[in-house]
Amino acid sequence: AIMGRKFVVGGNWKMNGDKNQINEIVNNLKKGPLDENVEVIIGVPAVYLAYVKSIVPDSIAVAAQNCWKVPKGAFTGEISPAMLKDVGINWVILGHSERRSIFGEKDELVAEKVAHALESGLKVIACIGETLEEREAGKTEEVVFRQTKALLPAIGDKWANVVLAYEPVWAIGTGKTASPQQAQEVHSSLRNWLSTNASPDVANAVRIQYGGSVTAANCKELAACSDIDGFLVGGASLKPEFVDIINATN
Ligand code: PGA
Repeated sequence: AIMGRKFVVGGNWKMNGDKNQINEIVNNLKKGPLDENVEVIIGVPAVYLAYVKSIVPDSIAVAAQNCWKVPKGAFTGEISPAMLKDVGINWVILGHSERRSIFGEKDELVAEKVAHALESGLKVIACIGETLEEREAGKTEEVVFRQTKALLPAIGDKWANVVLAYEPVWAIGTGKTASPQQAQEVHSSLRNWLSTNASPDVANAVRIQYGGSVTAANCKELAACSDIDGFLVGGASLKPEFVDIINATN
């Protein structure tokens, strides 16, 4: 974290939670106390978006975990950015590794979704990250740059509405978090790449979250890295320790 880039912490509930658990999570967030200088965004299953929006304070943003690439039509089972906006949702998480690996979303589709979400006025958490196999083959940068390159035309001049989430796939849900050095190295080289391939201003301003087994126990060390501007948190965002992760820079 550095001054000048507002720390941003997302919770990605994935396909977890029922009304009882959601009430507990939200009550815990309301109790906080949460650092007022941190932007908080909770990623909620689609069916609960409107409910969660109705019970959280305005200081907590609510995100969908996916959306489709056109406003409406014959796309059974999908939801559009226009629908999200209609129920008061302003954020969407796109390109999560589970969408990529389980549901076969390729760079090109992720880019189309990002483009349409931004055009529709949503803000986007765009996820990137290498698999263990790719890391061990020395391809981490190649993969992360390729995934980000696909997003450049989709984002265009709308970088102010984008947060990047670097989530090494081998660290997601495994309890094997990237070390602060490993994460900082990728964040820093991604920022350098953006300086050349987008612009120095974009590189300097864009917030890059780290995701993958972030917990109350490891968040402070990660947050101390200069190019880590927040977290995208899965498992721990369902637990009371999410408050401590939000407050990691205190
Ligand atoms: P995790 O998930 O914190 O449970 O590893 C992170 C994510 O998938 O965003």
